[in-house]
Amino acid sequence: MNNYYELIYEGKAKKVFSHDDADKVIIEFKDDATAFNALKKAKFEGKGKLNCLISARIFEILVKKNIPTHFLKLKNENTMIAKKIKVIPLEIVLRNTAYGSLCKQTTIKAGTLLAKPLIDIYLKNDDLNDPLITKERIELMNIISPKELDLIIDSTLKINVILKSFFKNIQLQLVDFKLEFGFDSKNNILLGDEISPDNCRLWDLNQKNDTIVSLDKDRFRNDLGGLIEAYSEINRRINDFI
Ligand code: UDP
Repeated sequence: MNNYYELIYEGKAKKVFSHDDADKVIIEFKDDATAFNALKKAKFEGKGKLNCLISARIFEILVKKNIPTHFLKLKNENTMIAKKIKVIPLEIVLRNTAYGSLCKQTTIKAGTLLAKPLIDIYLKNDDLNDPLITKERIELMNIISPKELDLIIDSTLKINVILKSFFKNIQLQLVDFKLEFGFDSKNNILLGDEISPDNCRLWDLNQKNDTIVSLDKDRFRNDLGGLIEAYSEINRRINDFI
């Protein structure tokens, strides 16, 4: 990235730079992968580009369905221009199928289809290990108002309907995903961050039996190998469909 742009923030998977327009930012997707609150780290050449391209396509689909997002346009293969937002420190996880932490913390069996989507909210705080949080605690901490939280939950449910059906069309089961929202300069709540195999669980539906084939970050979390191949396959299916 050009020295001219100021690095405003560097996260685990992305760098955020200033833009000439103070209401915009430039987001660069990195090849780094982390899991288990960054206890596990690796680099996958080409991951940043794939996540940037996949996210851009998905944001475009959501924008067409009137979901307000921070996405404006792709700048190049691993960089996008987005509206500047003040990120709300909450991770909104929606689950359609039980997996991951839900199965570690409850007696629900992995792979169980949930009768209705489950929304789990986590406090975005690495020092506290992103704990599961309640509506009451969110209100107590004054993070956002109950009305704003309702809006975010409603938007997450709508996004799920759109994404579940989109991914089904390309033979992928949307198991769960994590969203982040933020406020723009006019205090509108927008969907931020990224939507990619780094923060969605996607299982291949092109399987004859019931074996789970993860085409997402579980390939890294669970040492399955073939992460770039899996992300490339998702990118290919999205582009073939659109
Ligand atoms: N997730 C994420 N960032 C996190 C934690 C979870 O993007 O810090 C995503 C994860 O990829 C999955 C969903 O949220 O799609 C649910 O993750 P879960 O709570 O099961 O946690 P995990 O098993 O990943 O620890």
